[in-house]
Amino acid sequence: MNSKNYDIAVQLRHEMHRHPELSNCEQNTLKLITNYIEKYTDFKAINTGTYLYVDYKVNDDKYIAFRCDIDALPMDEYIDVEYGSVNQGVCHKCGHDGHSSTMLAFMLEVSQQKPKQNILFIFQHAEETVDGAKVCVELFKKYNVDCIYGYHNMSGLAYKKIGIIYDIAHLGSYGMEIELIGKESHASEPEKGINPVFAFADIVANLSTLTKGALCSVVHLDVGQNAYGISAGKGYLRLTIRSDEDEILTAVKNNIVNYTKEQAQKYGLSANFTYSDYFPVTYNHKESVDKVIKAANNLHINVINLEKPHRASEDFGVYTQAIKGAMFYIGNGEDYPSIHTDEYDFRDENIAIGADMYMELLKSI
Ligand SMILES: [Zn+2]
Ligand SMILES: [Zn+2]
Repeated sequence: MNSKNYDIAVQLRHEMHRHPELSNCEQNTLKLITNYIEKYTDFKAINTGTYLYVDYKVNDDKYIAFRCDIDALPMDEYIDVEYGSVNQGVCHKCGHDGHSSTMLAFMLEVSQQKPKQNILFIFQHAEETVDGAKVCVELFKKYNVDCIYGYHNMSGLAYKKIGIIYDIAHLGSYGMEIELIGKESHASEPEKGINPVFAFADIVANLSTLTKGALCSVVHLDVGQNAYGISAGKGYLRLTIRSDEDEILTAVKNNIVNYTKEQAQKYGLSANFTYSDYFPVTYNHKESVDKVIKAANNLHINVINLEKPHRASEDFGVYTQAIKGAMFYIGNGEDYPSIHTDEYDFRDENIAIGADMYMELLKSI
């Protein structure tokens, strides 16, 4: 790619990194990206207030869409870089600053080369909380979009190489909170209360059977309080459930709910269930994966076929439930720190790989 375009994109990356914003609070980030788009291209950025997109239309054919994410994580800056985060407790530790800057680099190339395809550039908010894709997918009602592509940087994958997988790319998942309410009593008279801890113990002991076929983690168990005079009357069990099939996610949820209700009845407790962070399975369509591989081959970039889907979820799956598309990966290096860790920082050089891949994918439609 053009080196001036690259430099501008890196500048945006560092500015985004310096001023990160949490999911659903990306107002200044949207303004920053808009400024770059309007300063360096002749495109009009459409800022919806929550996300932004650019509609590049040259004819009446279908669109090809590209999506990046713009949100940061509730983490502190740890590494010593001159563009370090100035927002305490917020930091770009998933590399979304790099994904957004790649999109800008790609747009700069498009604005200069004027390819003959309709393109939708989507800067999506709130990927980490799964709120963003559900909102941005509405664009497909307004625009006739044929397919969508996006990438995520990936530690553990060889530096600057492309990783891809057919079919399931990321497991689906959700968080589940089980609240059990009984009755507190004096700790000397537990028989006068209803302590939910025994029901929780039964549920936890049976989790591996109840969640068969899925991956379940207990993330929090909170029963009663730190007071030796009181036998607990209420508690919470929080779990995450992951699977490569949406049907299994539903079946496991039903198993847990039914078993919990049985236990609640047995002990005389009331049970409530709350769900959060539902990510559908991210499915990569064969035709789109083939095009990613072809694009990488044309650019003489090695492609690594990943053997297993990612356990971590990705809300890109919302898009590929609606239209065909694929998520691919660009390697940070086998030993590079993982995303969501203190030591991690996006590698600027991957901006050029991503932008080149997007330009090449344009030729595939
Ligand atoms: Zn993340
Ligand atoms: Zn991410």
